[in-house]
Amino acid sequence: MKPTMTDRLGRPLRDLRISVTDKCNFRCSYCMPPEIFDKYFKFLPKDEILSFEEITRLSTIMVKEAGIRKLRVTGGEPLMRHEVSKLIAMLNKIEGVDDIAMTTNGSLLPKHAKALKEAGLNRVTISLDSLNDEKFRKINGRDVGVQEVLDGVRAAEEAGLGVKMNMVVKRGMNEDDILPMVEYFKDTNVILRFIEFMDVGNSNGWKLDHVVSKKEMYHIINNVFPIEPKDANYRGEVAERFVFKDNQNEIGIISSVTDAFCSDCSRIRLSADGKFVTCLFSGEGHDVRSVIRSGATDPEIAGFISELWAKRDDRYSEERLNNTDKKDIKKIEMSHIGG
Ligand code: SAM
Ligand code: SF4
Ligand code: SF4
Repeated sequence: MKPTMTDRLGRPLRDLRISVTDKCNFRCSYCMPPEIFDKYFKFLPKDEILSFEEITRLSTIMVKEAGIRKLRVTGGEPLMRHEVSKLIAMLNKIEGVDDIAMTTNGSLLPKHAKALKEAGLNRVTISLDSLNDEKFRKINGRDVGVQEVLDGVRAAEEAGLGVKMNMVVKRGMNEDDILPMVEYFKDTNVILRFIEFMDVGNSNGWKLDHVVSKKEMYHIINNVFPIEPKDANYRGEVAERFVFKDNQNEIGIISSVTDAFCSDCSRIRLSADGKFVTCLFSGEGHDVRSVIRSGATDPEIAGFISELWAKRDDRYSEERLNNTDKKDIKKIEMSHIGG
């Protein structure tokens, strides 16, 4: 295996997240608020979006040169990208890729799960923020019912995909939905992960008061369904893992705000329009699309990536712990880089 690339803080490059579209069929209030992402909002034009061939070429270079083994496809909503299972099949052919996952809102999985599995997708992370139908319809801004997402979960399981479930917890929005969610999924094969609401982008009106901390979530869960810590799978895993004492099933809490994990952050994100983003809170990305489209060779592209990773010193969340007044900084929107 090729030696990994290392950044200025000694962090290896291990994980590639590929956003395949900035469009979404939902308008979650904490991600793409409908009043901002309205009918006048300018999404990326088609010619600015990386083709499947370009994505596959970049991924191949990163597998070969940086030793990346895991790929995650995300969005916007990745299932909005036409024929995305073709991309999965192309990524699956790259020698050295061990695992391909997708993060999705789940609503289109009944249509696509089987083809995705056949193309080589291993796992999906499905996002669902409440089991209360009325509330969920409001949160997603498109009047999509809970059952549509649960049908997506079932379709994924029936297709043989591993399933994790993300729930973003925002105070005043859905902290009272944590326990119903745990109760519903705790005795199933679906691994639940609760995520602290983050100040990604500049559109979601984030305030520190909105954050329900990992500690608080832990107590809410543990008081009713006792849990105990479980060791991390690997260095750089973002979710702190726990198991239920009664059945040893796993759940996780992602504490990006109150307990930052920058020191182990080994992720790079590729936006739909071909920018490498070295931190979820970056103001801008590094334009690899123009490098690729200018006719660069594979070693030249590899050089571009290793140079930008070598310069990386991002540790936004750790810095935020000391200074929460960072709201005026321009940041890339979550729907551009996919979490
Ligand atoms: N559309 C897909 C979905 O919702 O799963 C993939 C893209 S979405 C941006 C990826 C994940 O980021 C979702 O689980 C979503 O809930 C989460 N997310 C979006 N905005 C967030 C925020 N401000 N804080 C924490 N998580 C957020
Ligand atoms: Fe769309 Fe996912 Fe953002 Fe919701 S969280 S608006 S589903 S991209
Ligand atoms: Fe990684 Fe940036 Fe998040 Fe820190 S703030 S964990 S560097 S993405």
